[in-house]
Amino acid sequence: MEQKQFQAESKRLLEMMVHSIYSQKEIFLRELISNASDAIDKIYYKALTDDSISFNKDDFYIRIEANKTDRTLTVRDTGIGMTKEELEDNLGTIAKSGSLAFKNEVKMQDGQEIIGQFGVGFYSSFMVADKVTVYTRALGSDEGFKWESDGVEGYTIEAYDKKDVGTDIIIYLKENEEEESYDDFLEEYELKSIIKKYSDFIRYPIKMDITEQRPKDDSDEELEDVIEEQTINSMIPIWRKNKQELKDEDYEAFYQDKHFGFDKPLSHLHISVDGMVRFQSILYIPEQLPFNYYSHDFEKGLELYSNGVLIMEKCADLLPDHYSFVRGIVDSEDLSLNISREILQQDRQVKLIAKNIEKKVRNHLISMLKNDRDKYEKFYEAFGRQIKFGVYNQYGANKDKLKDLLLFYSSSEEKLVTLKEYVERMSEDQEHIYYANGESHDRIEKLPQTEMVKDKGYEILYFTDEVDEFAIKMLINYDGKEFKNVSSGDLDLEDEETKKEAEKQKEEHKDLLNEMKEILGNKVKNVKLSTRLKSHPVCLSAEGGDVSIEMEKILKQMPD
Ligand code: ADP
Ligand code: MG
Repeated sequence: MEQKQFQAESKRLLEMMVHSIYSQKEIFLRELISNASDAIDKIYYKALTDDSISFNKDDFYIRIEANKTDRTLTVRDTGIGMTKEELEDNLGTIAKSGSLAFKNEVKMQDGQEIIGQFGVGFYSSFMVADKVTVYTRALGSDEGFKWESDGVEGYTIEAYDKKDVGTDIIIYLKENEEEESYDDFLEEYELKSIIKKYSDFIRYPIKMDITEQRPKDDSDEELEDVIEEQTINSMIPIWRKNKQELKDEDYEAFYQDKHFGFDKPLSHLHISVDGMVRFQSILYIPEQLPFNYYSHDFEKGLELYSNGVLIMEKCADLLPDHYSFVRGIVDSEDLSLNISREILQQDRQVKLIAKNIEKKVRNHLISMLKNDRDKYEKFYEAFGRQIKFGVYNQYGANKDKLKDLLLFYSSSEEKLVTLKEYVERMSEDQEHIYYANGESHDRIEKLPQTEMVKDKGYEILYFTDEVDEFAIKMLINYDGKEFKNVSSGDLDLEDEETKKEAEKQKEEHKDLLNEMKEILGNKVKNVKLSTRLKSHPVCLSAEGGDVSIEMEKILKQMPD
């Protein structure tokens, strides 16, 4: 038997791990299963190029065994195994990808953070174990080895007569500590749910003995325990399946399965990209606004998988804020499992995926708008505000990506219209896109300022949402047509004759107007004669500038 020391770096990580109070200790199982799956993959890839190796799918599986008497948990695989050198290289030091992230993170000096930030691989088993034994035999080798460690100073290696190629990892669960019990990891139900949660889409079967109560013989009264080996994971992820094979019901079931919402999804997209970056994705647009959507505790994000293994439940970097309502999953074979949140943000692949997703969601919405107007309006009723906030918060080219997704109520059409539709209806002499602010359509219709614009035969967009005018101000124009508030001072709709007449009247009533202004004092900036009024004696109007009366009201309400 040989006794070896861990490297200093490994020791440090192990120590942090053991003392961590990180709550999701269950991820150790995800890590071990992912390693087992990688090991089977390695045989699979070898078989592709080496005729002497056959790959019969039925011979490859992962098996989980819990032993309550010994308090051990075994993860068995029929993968490629390890030679003695590989055992020392791979389990004696932190895996390369992990150590890189480790070095970056170690500055934080915070043990519990570390494990939350990335998968730390094999070593994570020491969160729940005080001893780990590995029995392994490499493909093409006739000797097996036993590796064992308590996860503190070092490990031992000795020869071991293992019959089959593959690896068995035995986890000796720690004695229960204060407030912490590891016994759950021996329960069928708990193990099943952890496997389902993290490893459902591993390509190879994850098998486990499951005890079920069945009626004894034909009597339906007496029950007996029947132990049966079952495959726990579903293996083929829905996103890897062919779109043609899937029905709406399948997508709905997945949505519910994943608890993306209690509603039915309004619409879904199934994306498969095989270019600069490879990924598959299923995205949903919910039907209903989540109850906490506009509050601080709403978190946007998509589930992120690396080749079938869940690495993050809510990856925010994959979604722009204006599409934060989108739910779903992304799986990419180009991402490493041991990737930290910080690294994810700067990761080139993640950026490419995010860009692609943004484009696909936009195209999806545009096509829904074109082909299923009712559905789009339903979407817009729930999430239209978010699109408007998007326009308001974006600069440069970004806001242009969203402008065709906007809908506003139109005075002439008496329904929601797009800006494009408005502009297409504009008559030749009309220069601006007119809008009016108000609490409701009713209120806006009663505004004195709308009369003259309507008389001219011009369409008016009704803004009833506070964000409407702010968003439009960011756009400045659509298709070269400037937006104009019907209440702004410089509508300039009068013909020459009316203008001359107005000048004359202004001169005539100069004294009266001045007197009115004096009486009103600093409540108003100016009192003018208006040519815009027909059946109303007076109206309020904002002078020049960019801020309308309504916007001013909102700005005043906002905390500094
Ligand atoms: P990573 O999986 O990111 O490489 P791990 O710490 O999870 O990091 O694993 C370290 C290495 O140990 C793996 O890269 C692999 O070479 C080896 N290994 C771990 N588990 C197994 C296994 N079940 N079968 C074969 N090799 C394994
Ligand atoms: Mg691993």
